[in-house]
Amino acid sequence: MKAYTVLETTEGTGGIVFAKHSVVARREGACQFGDGDFHSVTCSRTPWADRYAEAGDVPIGEMIDMGWHFECGSCGSRIDSDYLQERGWLSEDVIGTQHTTPYCHAVCEARYGLARAEVQRLERRWIRRFRAIVRRRFPDAVLVPGEGLGGGARAYAGHSGGRLVIQDVDVRFEFPGMKVAPAWLSYRRRTPNLSARLPFSPSKPEWSCCHGDLAAFEAYARGEPLIATTQLEVLAA
Ligand SMILES: [Zn+2]
Repeated sequence: MKAYTVLETTEGTGGIVFAKHSVVARREGACQFGDGDFHSVTCSRTPWADRYAEAGDVPIGEMIDMGWHFECGSCGSRIDSDYLQERGWLSEDVIGTQHTTPYCHAVCEARYGLARAEVQRLERRWIRRFRAIVRRRFPDAVLVPGEGLGGGARAYAGHSGGRLVIQDVDVRFEFPGMKVAPAWLSYRRRTPNLSARLPFSPSKPEWSCCHGDLAAFEAYARGEPLIATTQLEVLAA
């Protein structure tokens, strides 16, 4: 395996690809950097990176020494040799490989980890808080387990006015009489409407269900006894 540099011609973005032949490297690089268009990329031999062929990945510190630049995944700075020189930092201190997130140095990576942990702590706290509201209001509802994409709860925290605040929360639960899908308790923080100079006011948490369950959920929320579909079938028979 040999190292090749594949560059997309209009944006100048690209990377180092390992392959036995130039044509294979170009085809693979075109998929990664040029939307699969073989003619939108250039391909040239890069002997200095041959020693990474077995690992299949290159430390970005070395790529920076060879003229590449990257964006820090924490502070967003453009990391190139000028940037490092200005700060008295070394390319060996740059964190990351071609296939992982780059960071200026370990301190920048740690700062990102701390900020991320703080966001997750706030998101989890709001999910717990909302699940507690559901349990109090509807003791016989069943909370849908899991968090995040495809789970029964999700929350998103972000910065607003220099402060970390909760932006969105959704908590799903099944309720007696439900036919279509779980209902949910949600909250959406409104974005301040600067053009209209309206005072910023966050919205209140709201109960919702899908259209097909509206009557069932309303009846349930009013506390009326519900007869499950299977029981109705038994009665009809
Ligand atoms: Zn950084």
